[in-house]
Amino acid sequence: MEITTRVRPTIRAMKGYTPGEQPRDGRPIVKLNTNENPYPPPPVVLEAIAAAVSARLRLYPEPSARPVREAAARAYGVDADGVLVGNGSDDLLTIVMRTFLDPGQCAAAPDPTYSLYQTLAELQGASFVNVPWPADGSLPIEGLLATGANLIFVVRPNAPTGHVVPLAQVAELCERAPGLVVLDEAYADFATDNGLSLLPRHRNLMITRTFSKSFSLAGLRLGLAFVAPELAVELHKVRDSYNVDLLAQAAAVAALDHLDAFAPALRVIREARAQLTVGLRDRGFNVPDSEANFVLAAVPSGRRDGLAWLGDLKVAGFLVRYFGHHPALADKLRITIGTADEMQALLAAIDLLLGDN
Ligand SMILES: *Cc1c(COP(=O)(O)O)cnc(C)c1O
Repeated sequence: MEITTRVRPTIRAMKGYTPGEQPRDGRPIVKLNTNENPYPPPPVVLEAIAAAVSARLRLYPEPSARPVREAAARAYGVDADGVLVGNGSDDLLTIVMRTFLDPGQCAAAPDPTYSLYQTLAELQGASFVNVPWPADGSLPIEGLLATGANLIFVVRPNAPTGHVVPLAQVAELCERAPGLVVLDEAYADFATDNGLSLLPRHRNLMITRTFSKSFSLAGLRLGLAFVAPELAVELHKVRDSYNVDLLAQAAAVAALDHLDAFAPALRVIREARAQLTVGLRDRGFNVPDSEANFVLAAVPSGRRDGLAWLGDLKVAGFLVRYFGHHPALADKLRITIGTADEMQALLAAIDLLLGDN
């Protein structure tokens, strides 16, 4: 008998998540497809990692990453007992799914958003309801509540649209939701505000952050979650015992103790975002304002559709993200903000493509 016939039917029926392409070393390509930071981590973080490479690696790391939780408490003014550290924020998303979703239960999110949520919910044998964003980008509170979901995800700034919902709407959702609301703030450092002030007032709110984008540490895999301490106790039961390795913990403490070191790169990325937005609009793309480190650009009408732009830009040396399977995104490209030079080069490549239209 085929061993795969014994795999859980839930898994066999799933497609699995498709991450953005990570090109192999050596190919000269400008990578604008997975929202990584174009700048390296600051020296203070690299030095902390180097210093942690020692004989201590024979020992297990602190199980709950206590030094990181305490550094996060200092950096963000939260209670260290309400902080969880993850092997990337995706790890924290897995933990919250396993904590809140039994088979048959339901999770929901406005759509389109980060598609990993649906994959993770399905792994639990739970259902997932996509509630369309209203045209004005406001939070579809009634629609989300009507799903009866035990777990609701809101990304702010949202991926892949880059827009932010008013915090008052997030607060109202927390007020009225029977279950947990996860506010995924993967891109909050590129925005003008964040939801941390909501935490003390809403015990059913979890805020997640990642070190992969604003902190230039995607390769290390680090994320944070902020919750009420009584919920942290439950989430810790679900987590792998040693989910954050020693080197990652050292890097995380250094990063959180030196938030100022990231400010210059964040400022330059925001400037490049404004430049790219204007440049794309000048060339006929429809680009809503973004508060993240990417823009979502609807391609100009012409003989090239979204898929053709993806392919032609790749030939020109630029990797961007295309979610063509989603009807609302079929004419759009998600483009990560790179360096100012990379953005200029991208616009020049677009000019060439438009020229031989
Ligand atoms: C990138 C991203 C994450 C994942 O972050 P990792 O820490 O790299 O796992 C989570 N949520 C959203 C919305 C993201 O865009």
